[in-house]
Amino acid sequence: MNPSPFARLKEVALSQDLADPLASFRARFAYPKLHDSNSIYFTGNSLGLMPLAARDSLTQELDTWSQYGVEGHFQGPQPWVSFHQPFSDWLAPLLGAQPQEVVAMGSLTANLHFLLASFYRPSPTRFKILCEGSSFPSDFYALDSQARWHGFDPAQAVVEIHPRPGEHTLRTDDILAQIEALGPSLALVMLGGVNYLTGQFFDLQNIAKAAHRVGANMGTDLAHAIGNVPLSLHDWNIDFAAWCSYKYLNSGPGAAAGIFVHEKHLGKSDIPRLEGWWGHQPDTRFLMGRHMQPAHTAEAWQHSNAPVMNMAAQRASLALFAEAGQDRLQAKRESLVRFFLQAYHALQQDLPAGSLDCLTPESLPDRGCQSSLVFPGRGKSFFDWLSRAGVIADWREPNVVRIAPVPLYNTHLEVWTFLDLVRQGLRA
Ligand SMILES: *Cc1c(COP(=O)(O)O)cnc(C)c1O
Repeated sequence: MNPSPFARLKEVALSQDLADPLASFRARFAYPKLHDSNSIYFTGNSLGLMPLAARDSLTQELDTWSQYGVEGHFQGPQPWVSFHQPFSDWLAPLLGAQPQEVVAMGSLTANLHFLLASFYRPSPTRFKILCEGSSFPSDFYALDSQARWHGFDPAQAVVEIHPRPGEHTLRTDDILAQIEALGPSLALVMLGGVNYLTGQFFDLQNIAKAAHRVGANMGTDLAHAIGNVPLSLHDWNIDFAAWCSYKYLNSGPGAAAGIFVHEKHLGKSDIPRLEGWWGHQPDTRFLMGRHMQPAHTAEAWQHSNAPVMNMAAQRASLALFAEAGQDRLQAKRESLVRFFLQAYHALQQDLPAGSLDCLTPESLPDRGCQSSLVFPGRGKSFFDWLSRAGVIADWREPNVVRIAPVPLYNTHLEVWTFLDLVRQGLRA
């Protein structure tokens, strides 16, 4: 019997891996060994792998602490008073931002609240927030509680947009029409850059345009977008953004998150903020003045001195992103996605109709690394079977298995091997 089209793709995977200019980066990460097997790590969308260099980067700060004590703020290879500053330069290319628009700080949900304090300023007539119906729970809780904080009923203030019946993802036209319909009652559009559940990458530029046309602000949660898809926050005229860095940015559990505030909002005295001393202009901060003089950059939103130990791991990770470069990372991401789609469709030929479905859009501009798979009639036990077979993916209620082959450490062969396991499991 001739091998099936799916089986023949194994050779294609191998040859694409041989031609991969980023192949050597794979050796610079630590791989968890679970289930006594060499596992396939497809959970970079949830917790990215540890760059081996994170250990030395952390050790450097421990050495500074042990050698200099409090003087580590001013001595050592990267003095702590300005520790966060180069992060803006390292993060800006991943965001399509100017460095002054970016600060590494805080945690994602807390940062969302601080940004909403500035950019969700509801009035009795303009108080609505438009978000996706499958927002991440923490984002819903943040938006609902912000509405309540301002005295509004979230059931009225927080408007969810859902896909059309029978569809998995949102149509840009429907989002634009909803913005138009809410018109003068709309205070804020708040969308994920890439939706955590479906993997859909939104047309942020056109959505921001529509939001601004009706007088609303546009914010985005980039938890699943940064380090994944190409972004141009500045040119897209996004008002603000927040992200976490333990997902695609491989910065470790609970790592320092970050914010973007568009240049047009910097240095403005009429934008209220919840402030702290690290938001003060850096050159006069230590005069310990009674009154805040906010920095003229996004640092004005910063509160506290940097969590140096956890940012040390992020420093090691961002160095890998810089070394790999955006062009090569995006080319590899697209190659992995194209190969996944090719193999997925070939596999469907080998399986009974309806045994495998994918929620994620297929067209490249509408998605990132992640594919959200559904195995009708199989449920969690099939996911558990995949786990025992060595696949580290994740399960999202009620029925979604998310996989995210990422450019820095995954291969085309892993994509094929994963789908081959799916084939075996669905046939068993
Ligand atoms: C991962 C994720 C979070 C997590 O929030 P933390 O404050 O970092 O715990 C929030 N929102 C979205 C969209 C996420 O994907």
